[in-house]
Amino acid sequence: TKWDTKGDLDESKNLPIYQHKATLQQAVKDNSFLVVTGETGSGKTTQLPQYLHQAGFWSNGKIGITQPRRVAAITVAQRVSQEMHCSLGREVGYQVRFDDCTTQDTVVKYMTDGCLLREILADPVLSQYSVVILDEAHERSLNTDILLGLLKQTLSSPDKASKGRCVPLKVVVMSATLETDKLSVFLGGCPVFTIPGRTFPVTSKFSCAIGPKDTESSVYVKEVVKVALDVHTSEMAGDILVFLTGQSEIEKACDMLYEKAESIDYRYDVQDHKVEGLLILPLYGSMPTDQQKQIFQPPPPGIRKCVVATNIAATSLTINGIKYIVDSGFVKQLNHNSRVGMDILEVVPISKSEALQRAGRAGRTSAGKCFRIYSPAFWEKCMPEYTVPEIQRTSLTAVILTLKCLGVHDVIRFPYLDRPEERFILEALKQLYQCDAIDRRGKVTRLGELMVEFPLPPGLTRALLQAASLGCEDLLLPVAAMLSVENIFIRPGHPEKQKEADKKHRQLGVQAGSCNDFTMLLSVFEKCKASDAPSAWCKDNYIHWRALKSAFSVETQLREILLRLQKKRDFPMEKFDGNKSELFRRCLCTGYFTNVARRSVGKVFCTMDGHGSMVHIHPSSTLFDQEAQLDWVIFHDLLVTSRIYIRTVCPIRYDWVKDLLPKLHEVDVYELSSVARE
Ligand code: ADP
Ligand code: MG
Repeated sequence: TKWDTKGDLDESKNLPIYQHKATLQQAVKDNSFLVVTGETGSGKTTQLPQYLHQAGFWSNGKIGITQPRRVAAITVAQRVSQEMHCSLGREVGYQVRFDDCTTQDTVVKYMTDGCLLREILADPVLSQYSVVILDEAHERSLNTDILLGLLKQTLSSPDKASKGRCVPLKVVVMSATLETDKLSVFLGGCPVFTIPGRTFPVTSKFSCAIGPKDTESSVYVKEVVKVALDVHTSEMAGDILVFLTGQSEIEKACDMLYEKAESIDYRYDVQDHKVEGLLILPLYGSMPTDQQKQIFQPPPPGIRKCVVATNIAATSLTINGIKYIVDSGFVKQLNHNSRVGMDILEVVPISKSEALQRAGRAGRTSAGKCFRIYSPAFWEKCMPEYTVPEIQRTSLTAVILTLKCLGVHDVIRFPYLDRPEERFILEALKQLYQCDAIDRRGKVTRLGELMVEFPLPPGLTRALLQAASLGCEDLLLPVAAMLSVENIFIRPGHPEKQKEADKKHRQLGVQAGSCNDFTMLLSVFEKCKASDAPSAWCKDNYIHWRALKSAFSVETQLREILLRLQKKRDFPMEKFDGNKSELFRRCLCTGYFTNVARRSVGKVFCTMDGHGSMVHIHPSSTLFDQEAQLDWVIFHDLLVTSRIYIRTVCPIRYDWVKDLLPKLHEVDVYELSSVARE
């Protein structure tokens, strides 16, 4: 690959950060907190950890760098291991949820912010680290915000901070732009180091394809494809970066681009632009990393590269050579939906600051152009000024449990960089109480201490622990693993193939005996595992083999966590007499009784959590079209379009949840909150 050539790696000396190496090394030595800011691509993520390594910080402990996105952690670690001439996992390694690529030798460790939060649980003063770098702070991810508060608290009480450490911990917060003064004030007025940027002008052009009224996904996918091809055939050489919302939209756009690029006649359509071909490369979180490497390599001479990416290419990863941006104006975002009382992944307009950030990607090495497929009216009416921090728009249940386990009892007065609304905190406390993770006085229970060990949503963890205490974890572990990986079922674009895939999937569900979406996951897992040729089996059944492979690995890891807990503590055990299918579904009820719905009329169900939302079973469910035979069901999650759909559904009997349901209403949130304020 191109990286192995010396010339390319020497490019690091040309990065804007290089001239400030000594200053930065000294600044980290002199301060416990430091904020570093600089344009995307100035070398913060890849270079600063190396500078600190060269300055000898590793001799006092690891240099840890957090990233909000797992792909960024992996890709950057790969790059830096090459720059440092070591194999990945040795001096330089990474850790993300369910994938630990580090060894005893690892001194520069890239990881997700969620991973560092888990490490703090086991070791509150992070005694293994000399420096912790919170990267991409401007993204304001939930976990990074919590880490900021925790590290501020720890380091500002010196006796607490020095306990178990030989030398004081250094904390560096890095951010692309924005709010550095606010960060500095939050961290007790620490110094801010700004890496002077070199940016070139980017001219932005609006279009009228997307106005305030149309936010249909099919429209913007078609439009970005059209605009990207226009750029390809009419603009001078230079690579294109297209911003889209998610994997399926990106794959659709890439297919359309392939098809249309085939028919371009370069003799007539593209004259004097020195381009004779288009190299189309998708980029999204869950794609294999060896494929992701390609996007960093320069295209062959005469070929124009077109990367179709999610927001990951906005600041987390810098691709050299981009001269043109095509901006869809949308992003996929996890938001708390107060109408249904749950977090939902939805497509929303980006903020204006986000749009500027996207456009900026075109001006890194020379002047560039940004093509927005939306109108000025859309910009004015639909796009907010700034993106709301995740902590103010998603469920806090998991982090509140983590905070409580760390001894932060008063979760309302915790130092938040931006305070979440009190009702979100109360909602989290209520949910924790409902699944027995905290008691009436807001104290973590024994069960809560077990739950926090699992990197899974609380409801699922609760169900898994219930299964373990009844000795049937073998039923729940595969399900939990399958729900933790993305895209298990292949949905072919071709209608005939789609029919065949649906049929195969349904068969798998029926074979499982009692037919529901959870047993279907279990059945796919077990059948594939038992198969002599698992990859062929997957292909035959329209299942993604790569996803299944991850699920196998995740299951093993969850099993290890469980075994560790069962060994360490007196693990609760209960008895159950009944058949296996009932046992399985009853365990699910223990975790998912907050997601109970009852059929009201026809195909419409009504949720029982006090919101009383009207929901439909999603067409991907094995129970779709069998609604008439159902009464009570539980479900894993929701999808909101023009309707609210429930996905991964299982029929249950009312008497299994009868005793649990009152819990949804009994709890007085003010009681929990008064304790929280204590
Ligand atoms: P910042 O964190 O300031 O945004 P980075 O350290 O991520 O900057 O990027 C510095 C340079 O390293 C950029 O030119 C980028 O293209 C390059 N780079 C980063 N990751 C890779 C990679 N995996 N392969 C090739 N080049 C990379
Ligand atoms: Mg960076």
